Amino acid sequence: MGIDRKGSGGEKTRMTMSGTPKFAELTYERIDMAQLGAAYERLLGEIDDAGTGEALNAALDQWMALRSHFATMKGLNRVLYTLDTRNEAVRREKAYFEDHLPEVEDWNTQVCKRIVKHPQREAIAAKHGRRLLDLLAVEIETFSPRIADHLRREEHLVTEYTDLLASARIPFDGAVHNLSRLARYYTNPDRNLRHGAQQAREHFFLEHAESFDTLYDELVHLRHEMARILGYENFIPLAYRRMRRLDYGPGDVEVFRAEVVRHVVPLAAALRERQGEILGVDPLMFWDEGVGDTEPPPTPLGDTSFIVRQAAETFSEMSPETGAFFEMMTEGGFYDLDTRDGKAGGGYCTSFPDYGVPFIFCNFNGTAGDVRVLMHESGHAFQKYCSRHLSILDYQWPTSEAAEIHSMSMEFFTWPSMERFFGERDAIRYRNDHLRNRLLFLPYGCAVDEFQHFVYAHPEAGPKERKAFWRQLERKYLPWRDYGDLSFLAGGALWQSQHHIYRYPFYYIDYVLALTCALQFWKRMQNGKEGYWEDYLRICKIGGSRSFLEIVAEGRLESPFRLDVLSEIVKEAAAWLATHDDRFMNGRV
Ligand code: ZN
Repeated sequence: MGIDRKGSGGEKTRMTMSGTPKFAELTYERIDMAQLGAAYERLLGEIDDAGTGEALNAALDQWMALRSHFATMKGLNRVLYTLDTRNEAVRREKAYFEDHLPEVEDWNTQVCKRIVKHPQREAIAAKHGRRLLDLLAVEIETFSPRIADHLRREEHLVTEYTDLLASARIPFDGAVHNLSRLARYYTNPDRNLRHGAQQAREHFFLEHAESFDTLYDELVHLRHEMARILGYENFIPLAYRRMRRLDYGPGDVEVFRAEVVRHVVPLAAALRERQGEILGVDPLMFWDEGVGDTEPPPTPLGDTSFIVRQAAETFSEMSPETGAFFEMMTEGGFYDLDTRDGKAGGGYCTSFPDYGVPFIFCNFNGTAGDVRVLMHESGHAFQKYCSRHLSILDYQWPTSEAAEIHSMSMEFFTWPSMERFFGERDAIRYRNDHLRNRLLFLPYGCAVDEFQHFVYAHPEAGPKERKAFWRQLERKYLPWRDYGDLSFLAGGALWQSQHHIYRYPFYYIDYVLALTCALQFWKRMQNGKEGYWEDYLRICKIGGSRSFLEIVAEGRLESPFRLDVLSEIVKEAAAWLATHDDRFMNGRV
């Protein structure tokens, strides 16, 4: 899909069998800010004049239509930019969005202010639930025109960070790699190659150390200033509001992290120790952490088109809903999976609400991770597909800790199909590695979260203090971690490659909370309990129309904040590994 289609008009959008357009036919059109401004002016007038609940609800629908179109164009631009970060025309459009976002946010906040104070507001609560009014109230608390320039600068800095990572050309093993392709080596059975690849990666980060430090430093100060302007003590409460976390706070998260230290870190340390024994290395080094044993890692039996074919079979066997969903994705070309130079890193799922379709972005590099990431992003995309009919945009997108339940559970729900991707023997190894790595992830996720609480509580701390604190956190959450001669990482710099820390502050504990829920689905599936799929489907359909803890309850899951939930589920998973993984069968875990 190219930006040169802009304004080509006339030509009809081709539809797929299921009635949705194809990605290649979606037309990007620059949003005319003057026109949009006029539309918002009219809308504000209509809200003011709404004398009945019906009239106010009609104005609400109009507002949703304006936002849907804006979100669709912005989503298209994001996809085009991440597909080719070097495309100048797309970059121009991205900068256009960055420059105008605060303006749009200002208009939206004005709408929110009028609605929450409107004499007819109860009509909105009656039709769409009180949650919508709660969400609109939060919107007001997180924006003021006085932070417009800060928001613009924040977007620019995040883009600089993405560009910097995407620019990586790392010479290693006779070829030049981007970060995604280099990552193939982290699971190579040859220890020297693994070590060498980590050295090459570290070299890239070291070369740009100053940029990574300066970018983050500026982001932290900027966010702190925004918070102060809006009347918050620091960025932490503002971040929680921006994340729309309405039913828990930093105190709950702190208690949860302490539970992870108590119950998961000792288990993770035991898993790492056993891993070292299996690999025959002592100590287990940072570059050994990616491999479970001395054999070649489980690898998909074919290329991307093979993986897509297996995914289609997997989803069509799973349920009629998932089958139709993936067929639509394939028919419409709503994913881009292979890694390429200039493509942004990582994987994500976004959606184009005007068309009710999601888009999956991945960086396949020929490892087992390709399958896991595709299943993960498909979980997000499936939820977006299931809740595409919700007329309230805010309800199509759940808060992120809820959204990660959809994605991480899908990783587990597709377990029975892994033979398709890996063959019989490696499917077993894939499942074992997956579960083990998920357990090992819990402490890392908490380290990232505690790091950010420190950073934003102490905006005066500089790059040096931040790195020292990160190192301290690694000793607490990842006590086995040994970087050997990787002196840059040993100095506390690992977090600089974690793009959430720059781009989505405080988005990380979400994975840990969601995993505590996804593992409950995993357990119900293992125990052959009835009804787990129906529960999952239900929480996909309700999207973001409920808060996190309400969604958890709807899925008949236990709240991760309930003491003992985490320790119980982790114990179950460890017991499963001890009985199913012959590498760990000696009962050490
Ligand atoms: Zn996700």
